Amino acid sequence: MPLFFDSHSHLNDARFDGDRAEVLSRMKERGVWSLVVGTDRKMSEDAITLARANEGLYAAIGLHPTDDADEIFDEAIYRKFASEKKVVAIGECGLDFSRVPEEKRVEEAVRQTALFEKHIDLAVSNALPLMIHCRDAHPDLLQILESKKKEYSEKLRGNIHFFSEGPETAKKYFDLDFTISFTGVLTFARNYDETVKYAPLDKILSETDCPYVAPVPYRGKRNEPVYVEEVVKVIANIKEQDLEMVREAMVRNAFRAFNI
Ligand SMILES: [Zn+2]
Repeated sequence: MPLFFDSHSHLNDARFDGDRAEVLSRMKERGVWSLVVGTDRKMSEDAITLARANEGLYAAIGLHPTDDADEIFDEAIYRKFASEKKVVAIGECGLDFSRVPEEKRVEEAVRQTALFEKHIDLAVSNALPLMIHCRDAHPDLLQILESKKKEYSEKLRGNIHFFSEGPETAKKYFDLDFTISFTGVLTFARNYDETVKYAPLDKILSETDCPYVAPVPYRGKRNEPVYVEEVVKVIANIKEQDLEMVREAMVRNAFRAFNI
């Protein structure tokens, strides 16, 4: 068992190309495992390659709703990815309307919804959870998940990554049997404390989303999986719970969520 689990990293990102071996050896030293997340075809392939080559690394494969590459989702290719042994989740996928101009909102919602539904089908048919990205689109996302839940029941499950909503929205995801994950943002913004306090410990995952959003005391630097320890510490602090107990729960929850 690892000491920590980073449930959402981008170790496949080019910002690790110069020193990935060192980053991986720091993970080994600190007992940190991670789910490496793809955002398009190339990044998904790279996540699989990394997971195959390293104990303690797993892969999620998918096409991000606002991937810049303008890739056409090729179902056959992603189906092949999904059959890989170390692929334990489908994503990141979901909805993101944060940068969509008002006049394009409807068209973009239709496009992203169709793409997201393909990921749902892929996840359900492979008995894998979804790794979901959602920004400024929670009502739409919930509507899709609630209707798909009726069709797929317990086969539909997953995690809402980088969760940044209030307790009422969190509850709706818990009711659908989804988990939520928190990043290092918790170390420097107090907006999420209420949600962290409210969320049952077994519904939370720890993540870094590295190379983005490094936690205090590494702010402004490139983030990396070993810093997930700071996320676990701050969750324990906010919840006023024993650090060792929270640490263990974050690992156990990830193992359960991703069937490791
Ligand atoms: Zn991500």
